[in-house]
Amino acid sequence: MLKVDLHCHSNVSDGVLTPAAVARHARQAGVDAWALTDHDEVGGIAAARAAAAGLGMKFVAGVEISITWSGETVHIVGLNIDENDAALVRGLAATREGRDARGREIGEQLAKAGIPGAYEGALEFVDNPALMSRTHFARYLVQQGYCANTPEVFRKYLSEGKPGYVPHRWASLEEAVGWISGAGGVAVIAHPGRYRFSQLQQGVLFDQFKELGGTAIEVVTGSHTPDQYPVYAQLANAYGFLASRGTDFHAPGEARVDFAALPPLPASVTPVWHDWF
Ligand code: AMP
Ligand code: MN
Ligand code: MN
Ligand code: MN
Repeated sequence: MLKVDLHCHSNVSDGVLTPAAVARHARQAGVDAWALTDHDEVGGIAAARAAAAGLGMKFVAGVEISITWSGETVHIVGLNIDENDAALVRGLAATREGRDARGREIGEQLAKAGIPGAYEGALEFVDNPALMSRTHFARYLVQQGYCANTPEVFRKYLSEGKPGYVPHRWASLEEAVGWISGAGGVAVIAHPGRYRFSQLQQGVLFDQFKELGGTAIEVVTGSHTPDQYPVYAQLANAYGFLASRGTDFHAPGEARVDFAALPPLPASVTPVWHDWF
């Protein structure tokens, strides 16, 4: 069976390895087909594609778009996109806008909570301030000894209701699905089990997504707990969605699950890649 991983981050967004190093890491873990899906940015795709080709690994161009839906941040993965599509590139640039300003505000909030210099500290962890993410703050706070690991930083400081949380308005569901479809890609709801929606809200999200042209959801992802795999497999079939699989890899040692440990998709679902490889 092909080992497929369609959700990974490089240092082009909030991962720590270069696109080529992520490719090598995936290949070493036995991945046969791979997508790089950096947050709101396709700048790593060319290097990722070349690295995958050199390693004999099939490659899918991807992106993970941040959206705001019903007041919550949701992530929509685009797979098999033309990363040079003009409307997609424009849309992603617009989505990135405001990350730096939000970062400064997060820094101010953390200073009030007794953690000075966090914006400057987080800057040390990111190549491009336009891609400043909460993950970069988390790494800084861990480095400075405020918390033991990044999940703890999110729990204590960076999630909604916590001192370093700054609300932000991302793209809309309609925009994200439209940019992805317009670029010839397939839109996928990333880690649906991670959002804090009621079943009713989740159903509305799935219905709207489908109506807009979305065709897949992630079922097996490092951002789900194993008990969520069968739940989302069943939901994929109930809604007629294809199923995707990916580690959501960011950094060695920081992963909730590493490449080798993630199980395959349940046999009951149709993989999003069924007619690609
Ligand atoms: P941002 O796009 O700046 O809001 O940052 C979101 C990123 O933070 C996600 O892509 C994850 O990489 C990371 N993240 C979110 N929640 C958690 C968590 N509970 N533990 C660790 N990382 C998280
Ligand atoms: Mn991330
Ligand atoms: Mn995500
Ligand atoms: Mn991700």
